[in-house]
Amino acid sequence: MKKPPSGLITALKESNNLLVLTGAGMSAESGVPTFRDAQTGLWEKFRPEDLATPEAFRDQPQVVWDWYAERRTRISTISPHPGHAALVEMEQYFECFMLVTQNVDSLHQQAGSKNVIELHGNIMRSVCSRTGKAIDDEWIAASNDRPPLSPHHPSGLARPGVVWFGEELPTGTMNRATAAALDCDICFSIGTSTLVQPAASLPFVALDAGATVVEINPQPTRLSSAAHFSLRATAASSLPVIAAALAGYKRA
Ligand code: NAD
Repeated sequence: MKKPPSGLITALKESNNLLVLTGAGMSAESGVPTFRDAQTGLWEKFRPEDLATPEAFRDQPQVVWDWYAERRTRISTISPHPGHAALVEMEQYFECFMLVTQNVDSLHQQAGSKNVIELHGNIMRSVCSRTGKAIDDEWIAASNDRPPLSPHHPSGLARPGVVWFGEELPTGTMNRATAAALDCDICFSIGTSTLVQPAASLPFVALDAGATVVEINPQPTRLSSAAHFSLRATAASSLPVIAAALAGYKRA
């Protein structure tokens, strides 16, 4: 994208309160596949939607643990892209800036974003399958079991610290994200298919509350026709252009 729509920059200029919702597409240009991308290698015959569930972990804990171990290894080698950096830059131009991500890869925090809500947890953390208590990395590294036993419960196992399909989000987390959607002047929905609930409801909550809604996605989604601006662009190609245009106005 060479230039953002001028109406979008005017709306941003007049706003104090920005909410950004990101999904797997935000990380795609850093090399993290979305769930809609085909799986490769060992995992070709599995669908992510079938592995990222409590039932899969109950029935095949080792398969699920190994799949997450492979994702962790891949994620530990990647870096944020210019789209992540642009969001860090944009943060300074607003009195209130909240970044709600469905991603579990910490790329926003690695880039330097401060006000981040991780709706679906973080893949680098492990928790006890019975109590939900955090398990230290040293404990995981010292175990040869896949998955390691939990130190917190006699029949607990270590599991990834993420929210699986079919699991409830921590109440406080979703309440804070919903409050931000109700309060914001502008809501960006970036790289998300807006299919996975309840995260997918957030841009619609913002829309109903009177906010300007901006979608960034190379593909149309169910949000596209309702959004005020639906940009058919990738995160890394469009966000730096928007941040640069905004810097011109905000610094003037
Ligand atoms: P999704 O896989 O359902 O949709 C991804 C969306 O991103 C698609 O609409 C696609 O068109 C768009 N997209 C692809 N490349 C893009 C780019 N370069 N720039 C902008 N948009 C792009 O993802 P979702 O809506 O986030 O839901 C899937 C679930 O999977 C979430 O719960 C999320 O937690 C999880 N997930 C997380 C990661 C991660 O942490 N990086 C990766 C895969 C899946």
